Amino acid sequence: MIYLDYAATTPVDQRVLDAMLPYFRENFGNPSSVHRLGQKAETAVESAREKVAAILHCRADEIVFTSCGSESDNLALRGAAMMERITSSRKWILTSKAEHHAVSKTAVQLEKEYGFLLEWLDLDEHGAVTVESLSKAVCNDTFLASVMYANNEIGTINPIAELAKIAKANNILLHTDAVQAAAYLDVNVEKLGVDLMSLGGHKFYGPKGVGALYVRKGTKLLPHMTGGGQEFGLRAGTQNVPYIVGFAEALRLAAEERDSRTAHVRPLRDHIIGQVLESIPDSKLTGHPENRLPNHASFVFKDVDGNLLLQMLDSAGFACSSGSACKTGNPEPSEVITSLGYDRDWALGSLRITLGVDSSPEHVDEFLKSLPALVEKARGLNRK
Ligand SMILES: *Cc1c(COP(=O)(O)O)cnc(C)c1O
Repeated sequence: MIYLDYAATTPVDQRVLDAMLPYFRENFGNPSSVHRLGQKAETAVESAREKVAAILHCRADEIVFTSCGSESDNLALRGAAMMERITSSRKWILTSKAEHHAVSKTAVQLEKEYGFLLEWLDLDEHGAVTVESLSKAVCNDTFLASVMYANNEIGTINPIAELAKIAKANNILLHTDAVQAAAYLDVNVEKLGVDLMSLGGHKFYGPKGVGALYVRKGTKLLPHMTGGGQEFGLRAGTQNVPYIVGFAEALRLAAEERDSRTAHVRPLRDHIIGQVLESIPDSKLTGHPENRLPNHASFVFKDVDGNLLLQMLDSAGFACSSGSACKTGNPEPSEVITSLGYDRDWALGSLRITLGVDSSPEHVDEFLKSLPALVEKARGLNRK
């Protein structure tokens, strides 16, 4: 099997696993315990926090460990909204239809069930939120905007630092979902200027089930998990010590090896984009042609059932992904692809190829050799 789905998840780096293992058995203490075993666990969590803070260029007490990227998104949006409800009367939340569901569905729930007002930010043709789009949408009653750093489906990178300036000038919080971005982009919050930033471990060779939320000092969130007061009272529950240790080590390695990892995947990615567009009729690149994640290629093929294509690729030995959330039966194109303006006959045929440390030129060549015939076959079946 050739794995071309690193945006969905990555394998745990051996060095990360080695760092985690002692915290399952030898150093199994509860970080809240007073005795030495507890203190050892607490030290592990606190040094992980400092490691993360060093990469984000923030204070250690601005890092809240969570159970995943989705929880970080939820804590950011829900926490900010519920606090706003207590302290102020502002009601508007701004986000976009290109967001991960952890953001967009949370925003929709805040609107439907909790009385907040939601405005969808305009996207440009590449699925980016522009400075104009945010400036136009902000009003006196806006308190929060949530715009992802890089898009998981189409790879487009948003101008977060510029958006943060607009947010600051208008006295609103800016949250960014950097879950996909952290593997390849600079996550320095001083430079980005955001108030809240979500991270998830398994997108950069850390374990699944652990994440972090950066919360700028002075940003008030209502905790969505109450209990023992862990994580500065923002996220109760005994910390997942080995996973937090693994998260921090994986993020450190991602930052340290960012240039070499990028140099490894970018030419392979460019080769895929060039070859697919050349060899497959009625194919288009989705997302931004240049300003996109260096490991990310995404396409739409006209008159192709994207899910069928994925199954055919799987049978041929390739693990890829599509943008559409459909299984079988009543296929619905992905909202992200639809919001770029593609008609249904294009939008249903999406394909995402994402590369990583184990991707090789041989893998890419094999894939490129197999894909055109599979797309043609899927098209033929689509016409029946
Ligand atoms: C994967 C992903 C998430 C969810 O992270 P989990 O750790 O799987 O909950 C959120 N946002 C983006 C952009 C992602 O790619």
